[in-house]
Amino acid sequence: MFDLRDLYQQVIVDHNKNPRNYGILAEANHHADGHNPLCGDQLHIDILTDDEGKIIDARFEGEGCAISVASASLMTEAMKGKSVAEFETLFDAFQHMVTADLDAMANEEVLGKLTVLAGVKEFPSRIKCAILCWHTSRTALADKKEVAVTE
Ligand code: ZN
Repeated sequence: MFDLRDLYQQVIVDHNKNPRNYGILAEANHHADGHNPLCGDQLHIDILTDDEGKIIDARFEGEGCAISVASASLMTEAMKGKSVAEFETLFDAFQHMVTADLDAMANEEVLGKLTVLAGVKEFPSRIKCAILCWHTSRTALADKKEVAVTE
């Protein structure tokens, strides 16, 4: 029998082994560092937005577990071409998917490929790994001079 969870697992493994948008974005105009003390994940995120607040490019670097790296890889892919407001919508939908008890897939249309991470909800210690890059990007886009911490 075809098991969707196996496919999800493969996508996560692939994004961990070959992270998309990994590296420094020299021309970025928003930056932030993120730290998840629970797991030890460390991320740096670079984001380039245009004058209208559209996300042109996003990259990340860091050291972290498979979930934190795969999540950042998937997130940077998903946020390109979106406005900051659309990023916030995506953030809320993602957070809802990995934390809410009810109707986890209610925002499947919004989330697209990001739904492969829905399974982390079953592993409470991994939720912060998955959400770290999102908090870090939000901090970067708000131009806050602080480290995004998941605690
Ligand atoms: Zn982690």
